[in-house]
Amino acid sequence: MGIVTDSHLPWLRQQLDEWDASLLRRRRRVVTPLKEGWCLVDGRRVRNFAGNDYLHLAQHPDVIAAAQAAVVQAGVGSQGSALVCGRTSWHVELEQRLARFEGAEAAILFPTGMAANMGTITALAGARDVVFCDRLNHASLIDGCRLCGAKFRVYRHKDLNRLGDALQQAAHFQRRWIVTDSVFSMDGDLAPLPELCDLAERYQAHLIVDEAHATGVFGATGRGVCEHFGVARRVAVRVGTLSKALGALGGFVCGSAELIETLWNSARTQMFSTALPPAICAAATAALDVLEREPERRIQLQRSCELFRTELRQRGVEPLPGSTGPIVPVVTGSPATTLQVAAKLEERGYLVGAIRPPTVPAGTSRLRISLSLAHSTTEIAQFAAVLTEELSAL
Ligand SMILES: *Cc1c(COP(=O)(O)O)cnc(C)c1O
Repeated sequence: MGIVTDSHLPWLRQQLDEWDASLLRRRRRVVTPLKEGWCLVDGRRVRNFAGNDYLHLAQHPDVIAAAQAAVVQAGVGSQGSALVCGRTSWHVELEQRLARFEGAEAAILFPTGMAANMGTITALAGARDVVFCDRLNHASLIDGCRLCGAKFRVYRHKDLNRLGDALQQAAHFQRRWIVTDSVFSMDGDLAPLPELCDLAERYQAHLIVDEAHATGVFGATGRGVCEHFGVARRVAVRVGTLSKALGALGGFVCGSAELIETLWNSARTQMFSTALPPAICAAATAALDVLEREPERRIQLQRSCELFRTELRQRGVEPLPGSTGPIVPVVTGSPATTLQVAAKLEERGYLVGAIRPPTVPAGTSRLRISLSLAHSTTEIAQFAAVLTEELSAL
């Protein structure tokens, strides 16, 4: 039998053509990670300014060694979901380690951050509840809100007045949930967590905060934006990921023992999915060790972020207002200009994110530059100069 080319699902062609015409069709490439922040993109050696490995831990020797040791001992796959046979001593150690690191009673692992958000929201919120969701929240939070059966209300980005008004009208629901990113993934700005806590307390709502881009990066000891603002105790549910600054893979939730026990018993993305590979857990635990042992990493990253923003501003380029930390968005507007600048940068040896709808609202396509400890201060300044040149050539 040959490959079926045209007899099934004929309408897909039309959708693909539309994506092509509006420059929204995603092009896949092969990216091979090399050492020290280099990568090969379709064969060309470039500097990676597009990844989320902010602390450069994905290639840390201790992290690699921990993964290697575990893979030799336990093999690659975990063989089953956590509740059947997939939860090894490496998982338990990581759960305990995360709870301690976060100053929480307990923590639970999920296959990914996406699964953590979807599984947690659907486990906690139900048909008699209302969920309030920032318009720029990550897709995993939005989809969790859509799926959970609660009344779904989206508020304008960080619009506390609107949210307050909506909460005031929501007294008749059984429960009120406020769901937010702590660092918005495409804007790089922080949620106003103290004010959100005030609103939650005033209207008897409960906060779910996703620290995906904040764990390891923000806060005095790297616990995230809740720590940064000193509100961790006022937040009912904190979600994080091991896939970004910790350089591994997987999601987690931390909170009270009762919350975690409830999620063990009802979060479907955890119950009905294979547990993380033991080697990934070993790697994440080793990454937490490095994080706690070397707080100077976070300080160095902060310095790089300030340096890059200063270099851009001195050359007349303004990163998206409100952005702070290693995610530096520069709005270019249309998909065409965004792709054009990204392609030029790639020719000059730099890989950046070219972010278009539906990831961001129409008209706000952008370059998403992410900084990491793999970048030296000299190269950060050089890159700022190259980026400015390419933007002014538009
Ligand atoms: C990346 C991201 C996630 C998903 O985490 P994964 O571990 O990559 O699945 C969840 N929330 C936010 C805000 C993110 O940026």
